[in-house]
Amino acid sequence: MNLPQKHSNTGTSIFAVMSGLASQYNAINLSQGFPDFPIDEQLSGLLGKAAREGHNQYAPMPGLPILRQAIANDFKIRYGVNIDADSEITITPGATYAIYTAFTSILQPDDEVIVLEPAYDSYIPNIETNGAVAVTVSLSAPDFKVDWNKVKAAITTKTKAIIVNTPHNPTGAIWEKSDWDTLASLVRDTEIIIFSDEVYEQLVFDGQKHYSVLEHEELRQRSFVLYSFGKVFNNTGWKMGYCIAPPAFTVAFRRIHQFLVFCVNTPAQFALAHHMGNNNAIPVGQLMQQKRDHFLALLAHTPFTIYGPARGSYFQVAGYDKISNLPDMEFAQWLTKEYGVATIPVSAFYKNKQDDHLIRFCFAKKEETIIEAVARLSTLKPL
Ligand code: PMP
Ligand code: GLN
Repeated sequence: MNLPQKHSNTGTSIFAVMSGLASQYNAINLSQGFPDFPIDEQLSGLLGKAAREGHNQYAPMPGLPILRQAIANDFKIRYGVNIDADSEITITPGATYAIYTAFTSILQPDDEVIVLEPAYDSYIPNIETNGAVAVTVSLSAPDFKVDWNKVKAAITTKTKAIIVNTPHNPTGAIWEKSDWDTLASLVRDTEIIIFSDEVYEQLVFDGQKHYSVLEHEELRQRSFVLYSFGKVFNNTGWKMGYCIAPPAFTVAFRRIHQFLVFCVNTPAQFALAHHMGNNNAIPVGQLMQQKRDHFLALLAHTPFTIYGPARGSYFQVAGYDKISNLPDMEFAQWLTKEYGVATIPVSAFYKNKQDDHLIRFCFAKKEETIIEAVARLSTLKPL
C-alpha cells in the first residue's frame, strides 16, 4: 500500500538516532538533551504519594486547577505578570505536544509559518502535517542572532505565524528585549500569530534575564507560549508541560487538545503542583551554569572550537574543523563509535540539512559524566 507522507522529513528524529547509537556503542550520551542525575526526592516522593492516595483517574481536560494555579502564582512571582489559571493555562503531555497542538489549532493548508533555523526538529514536520508551509530564515554563526531584515523579507500575505525559541536549542542564544520590540513592529499591522517556545526559560546564565513574550503586553495578546516541566525539574521522561495563551487562543487550543489526549497524567500533576514553590533545591539555572562552566573549561583543552559560549539552555555548539573534514552527521557517528561520545550534528536542525561542521553537546550531566566525556575527547588529534 502507498501510505501518504504527511511531512517532508522522511528520516527518524536525530534524537532517536543518536541516543540509539550511543547505547549500541556504549558511548557517553551528550546527544539528546536530558539530565543524567536523579530528580529531587521530594518530587519523586510526591508522585508516589499521589498514586497511593488514589489520584489515579482522569484529570480535568485543561489540567488540575491546583497545578494551573501554581503556574499562575509562579509567573506572578518570577515575571510579575497576571495569568488567569482557568482561561489561559492548559496542561499538556510535554512541550513537543503543546507545540503541535498550538500549530494545529490555527494552521490551515497553505498558511506560511516563519521558522528561524537551526530549529528544534519537530517544528517543520508539525507545520507540514497541517498542510502549511515552513518558510525558513537562518540565524548565523557565531552568535546566532536574528537578522530582522531577513525576517521582514520573509513576511508575505500568507504568513500566518512565526515560531521563536529563547533560550535557543541548539545554539544557547537568548533574545534581548529589543528583539521582541522589533518583532512587535513587524507584526503590528498584521494578524501574524506568535508561537514562543520558552522551555529553557529558567536556564539562563551569567546574570542575564530571560525575556518572556508574556512580559510584552502587545505581543502577548497574539501568542501561544509553550513550556516543559522536564527542563525545570530535571524529569524530561515525565513528559509534562503547558501552554499559556490568551482566552480565545486557549479555547482554540483546547478544541484540539480535548480530542488528542483529552487530559494529562493525574499523579504527575498532583506531584508538580505540590512541589512548585515549595522546593529548596538550588535554582536549576545556577546548576546548569556550573555544568556549562565545568564542561567549557575542560573542552578548552581539546581541538574543538567553542561557539558562544551558550548563554542559556542545555547545549553548547562547537566546531570540529581542526579535527576532521567529515560531514557533521558522519563526524557525530564516528565520534560515537570511535571515541565513545555521542553528540548531535547541527545539520539535523535545518530543513535543507545545511552543514557548517558543527555539533551540539548537552552538558546537563553529572560531574563524572562530563569529566569522562571530555577525557575521551581530549585524545582527539588535530588534523
Ligand atoms: N522545545 C525545545 C526547544 C526543546 O529543546 C524541547 C526538548 N525537549 C522541547 C521543546 C520539548 O519538550 P518536552 O520534552 O516537554 O516535549
Ligand atoms: N529537547 C531535547 C533535545 O533537543 C530532546 C528532544 C527529543 O528527544 N525529542 O535534545
